[in-house]
Order: sequence, then structure tokens, then C-alpha cells
Amino acid sequence: MDTLDAFARRKLAALEAAGLRRALLPTARLDGVHVLRAGRQLISFSCNDYLGLAHDPRVLAAAHGALDQHGAGAGASRLITGEHPLLGALERRLAAFKGAEATCVFGSGYLTNAGVIATLAGANDLVVLDELVHSSLLSGAKLSGARVLTFRHNDVDHLRELLGAHRAGAGRCLVATDGVFSMDGDLAPVGDLLAVCEAHDAWLMVDDAHGLGVVNGGRGAAHGHAVPLRMGTLSKALGSYGGYVCASAPVIDYLKTRARTLVYSTALPPATVAAALAALEIVESEPERVAQPLRKARRFAALMDLPEAQSSIVPVIVGEARRAVALSRALEERGYLVGAIRPPTVPLRTSRLRVTFSAAHRDEDVEGLAVAMRDVLREESP
Ligand SMILES: *Cc1c(COP(=O)(O)O)cnc(C)c1O
Repeated sequence: MDTLDAFARRKLAALEAAGLRRALLPTARLDGVHVLRAGRQLISFSCNDYLGLAHDPRVLAAAHGALDQHGAGAGASRLITGEHPLLGALERRLAAFKGAEATCVFGSGYLTNAGVIATLAGANDLVVLDELVHSSLLSGAKLSGARVLTFRHNDVDHLRELLGAHRAGAGRCLVATDGVFSMDGDLAPVGDLLAVCEAHDAWLMVDDAHGLGVVNGGRGAAHGHAVPLRMGTLSKALGSYGGYVCASAPVIDYLKTRARTLVYSTALPPATVAAALAALEIVESEPERVAQPLRKARRFAALMDLPEAQSSIVPVIVGEARRAVALSRALEERGYLVGAIRPPTVPLRTSRLRVTFSAAHRDEDVEGLAVAMRDVLREESP
């Protein structure tokens, strides 16, 4: 039998051989755009801090103030320590911005998805997911104990077919999709998905982790549709950390009573909440900033002859994992940090360079990256 160490070594060796071993490389963020890695300063096109708010002086001032006034940690779960007033303020502000009746903030986007799905679906129920949804939605679906089916990416007819065949045999049914797909940057057909869900008595959940602060004036891909469950994260365009879901008042009250990832996990630190709240105020008051990531993504896509960008995420799909890693290294040598995304994060043979754009990038940075990207693609050894 394997010892624990032998098991881990054998797994790592197999991943190494397949070009799939991952490493954590010490990299310090210096501001919204620049990072320091191995003593070199790079321009990063790999952060989800789409509005440069993680370093905004107003966000930092709010966080410093809360840190000094309320301390470093929350002390316990929200139901135990008592509700921190900052959390209520953030939830009300998010609900107003999203046009929702109520909002619940969780410890992270991952905890939100795991908690919401596992609370609303159970053993006799059905959860149907787009095949490219974020891993945290799949974790929630598995945790729920419900039967899990997947429909082809953005294929509304396939969803209709699956619900037609399997909806009747299940109790409750929840359908989940990303609003903006995290590794492809494309948008879900939210209105069409909602119509199919309503026709089959299914609840639609849209994960707008990459939509908030970027698409539809920052209100996300589900904006303008009566989607009953709209989740998102405070960790990306808001430059802070945490997750949330918007829904009706009874649904939010039920989640606050029963979602295990909320009830049994410590509340967010006050400074993190204050930072998210200050960032949300900036999103609401600076539409010009919100328009920038998409504008820059479109500029890059045009320079690269790629299809028009729909969000701040532009994938350059290169196929094999090793090729993506080699191209990422070559870009790093030219001063650009662009992540190589490999299976199982993306399907086999669709490894890619995932390029993300921020309001903090200068137009010269975007143009420089396009030149470097064309160079490294041209210089590849055949
Ligand atoms: C990042 C992400 C999450 C998780 O959010 P965190 O706050 O980072 O835990 C969930 N869904 C999608 C689509 C994401 O990209």
C-alpha cells in the first residue's frame, strides 16, 4: 500500500509528465497594473482587479479606518458575534445597486456558491449546470446531494431538452450558469435561459463574479432580467474579498438561517467589508472607469484579429498545456504577466493564455502586449 508521501509523489510525477503540475510563484502586486516577480517588475494582464480598486486611496482609507476602529478579525460567525453594522450597510447598498429585494454577503464567492446551492437543493432534486461553469458551482451542486446534469455551453436548446426529459422526476430544480464565463470571457444568454427555466419550474442562478463592475454599466450580465438568484464576488472588480447573493427577502432570510458556509464560517474582517463598500460607491459614481476594462479588451482583440471582446477577459487559445506555459514564459521575458490556463480548469486541448484588462492599464500597455503576443507566437519553435 502507498504511504501518504509516496501517494503524493506519484501524483505529482504524473502531473509533471503531463505538463499539468502547478507552482505558486512569489509575486508582489505593486499597484493596479505592476507586479514584482523574481526581482523584475512586470505589467500584469492576469489580475481580476478590473477597476484598479485594490489600491485606490479611497478604498485603502476606508479599510484603514475600519481596521483601527473595529480590529483585524470578526471574532466569529455572523450569527454568533452579532451582526457587524458594516455588513448590513454593504448588503443594503449591493441590493440597491443590483435592484434586488435583499442580499446576503458570504466569506467568499466560493463559499457563496457552495452554500446557496447546497441549501436550496437536496437529495431528490435536480441541479443543471452549463458545462463551463466555475468550479465552485459544481462544488455546491455536488455538496447538495442532488442529481447533477450539464448542458452544452450556452446551448439553450440542450437545456430545454434536458429539463423536458428529467425535470418531472425531480422535486426542486436549480439551473446555474456563469454570467460572464471566467476562462472564455463570453456572456450567457440570460434572457433565453430564464424563459426555459420559467417554463419548466426551475430556479435560475447566475454567477456574475466577472460581470460586477464591468458589464451593463457594472450591474452584471444578469442585469435587466428577473433572475431569482444572482451571485457575485467582492474579490474581483471591487478589489476586496468576499461573496454575495441577491434574491427575494424570504430566500435571503432562509439562506441566513440555514446556509452552512455562512452559519459555520467566520464573518469577513471589518476592513475587508469597508473596502468593498467604498469600492462599490466608486463603481456607482464613476461610469467612465467602469467602461474602461471592456474598451481595453476590445482594443486588444482588434489588434490580435480575435472576435470582439464581450467582457474584460480575452482568451488566446493555443491548445496543448506545454505550449501555453512556454508562451506565458516568453511573455514574462518581455515584461508581461499573462497566466497560462490548463486542464482541468479548461477542457483538454484548449489550454490558453487568459488575458484580463483593467481600467488601470494604459493604452500603451495594451498595445505593447499585443506586439509582444504577436512576437512570441511568431517566434515559437515549430
Ligand atoms: C472567482 C470566481 C468565483 C469565486 O469567487 P471568490 O470570491 O474568489 O471565492 C466564483 N465564480 C466565478 C465565476 C469566479 O470567477
